[in-house]
Amino acid sequence: MKYDVIIVGSGFAGSVLARCFADKGKKVLIYEKREHIAGNMYEEVLENGIRVHKYGPHIFHTNQKEVLDFLKKYGEWYFYEHKVLGKINNKLVPIPFNFKSLELLYEQTKALEIETKLKEEYKDTDKVSILSLINSQDKTIKEFGEFVYENVFRNYTAKQWNIKISEIDKSVIDRVPVVLGYDDRYFNDKYQFMPKDGYTKIFENLLDSKNIEIKLSTNALEDLSIKDNKVYLKGKEFKGKVIYTGAIDELFDYKFGPLPYRSLKLVFENYDMNYYQPTSVLNYPNEEDYTRITEFKYFSNQIIDGSTTILKEYPLKYDYKDKTKVPYYAIINPSNIEKYNKYFELVKSIPNLYMCGRLAEYKYYNMDAVIFRALELFKEIEN
Ligand SMILES: Cc1cc2nc3c(=O)[nH]c(=O)nc-3n(C[C@H](O)[C@H](O)[C@H](O)COP(=O)(O)OP(=O)(O)OC[C@H]3O[C@@H](n4cnc5c(N)ncnc54)[C@H](O)[C@@H]3O)c2cc1C
Repeated sequence: MKYDVIIVGSGFAGSVLARCFADKGKKVLIYEKREHIAGNMYEEVLENGIRVHKYGPHIFHTNQKEVLDFLKKYGEWYFYEHKVLGKINNKLVPIPFNFKSLELLYEQTKALEIETKLKEEYKDTDKVSILSLINSQDKTIKEFGEFVYENVFRNYTAKQWNIKISEIDKSVIDRVPVVLGYDDRYFNDKYQFMPKDGYTKIFENLLDSKNIEIKLSTNALEDLSIKDNKVYLKGKEFKGKVIYTGAIDELFDYKFGPLPYRSLKLVFENYDMNYYQPTSVLNYPNEEDYTRITEFKYFSNQIIDGSTTILKEYPLKYDYKDKTKVPYYAIINPSNIEKYNKYFELVKSIPNLYMCGRLAEYKYYNMDAVIFRALELFKEIEN
């Protein structure tokens, strides 16, 4: 087949673009270095019949109707509002921290005093950042902010990013909310859903087109190369569009050095019991080496008696030379962005090469944001 478009990677970025081009009659070739499609959204069924998210728990949430409408074409979704608990001082309390968390961790009179002060101080909002609490002139509010910071935020962040608290960007701390009420949803987006038959099925439907061919277990860089601002496919210049959703530093053979990421060790455990914990995700900010435990039956609504599967996530250093490690979270800071920009300058000089997705753009994208970005890129370059 003669291809019009080559796409590297079959996560949401690559698969959405592949489908958009295929629907316009373009012949698309996808390279995927893993042995399966769906990128980090891939779900597999274990021997006990439970469907698990192989690369960590993924919950779909968005305020963008366009993204939801697009996804609905490729499978059924069911309403799912994510709720998270955190183990703090041996109690399970709602995360983000809310009035119920407060009442579980403080004795009643003190809890009421804090709630009253918070309501007075922050009349016009239902959320406040920890930083605002810590900087409050009111002693009670300030102490409460410091308590939440110490018990919910500090160790979790240090574990996740392996950096000293003093090095954490103020904007990150500023993003952590305390809910001034009893809303215990983890996300506030208008649309919150999970795929009825799992994410892998959504991808199978997305990629089900006579115009799409997929090469699994193949690193595209074995066939693709770049020379004199041109892209070559197996040594011959490729003049069609090339959409790259892999790591930008790998594409250019790390010539400006590797872009740093955090990785995760994911440990799945099976138990002969109906449920292991009272909610889908339980955060462990303090005592344990893992950050959270996910129990998948809550996501898939599967009724399987006497068996359950959980996942423990241990944050880990990423090393691009170690092919067993996955680059999960870009470490976004000014010097890494500067390095990224150097790579991106190279991309700009190649007219038919486009970057899309979390690795190619070195960004933290939620699923909805990456789908939106892919749809927008398609509008820009479809002709
Ligand atoms: C632990 C974790 C939990 C998350 N939870 C949520 C959540 O609850 N909700 C949410 O909205 N978002 C969540 N996200 C974000 C979500 O995972 C991303 O938005 C999404 O993965 C981005 O899709 P992508 O296509 O850019 O990347 P990916 O899904 O990583 O796809 C890129 C694909 O490219 C392939 N590839 C790379 N290089 C090459 C190459 N050279 N040749 C061939 N193939 C190549 C890779 O194998 C991969 O399959 C989470 C992220 C993490 C890390």
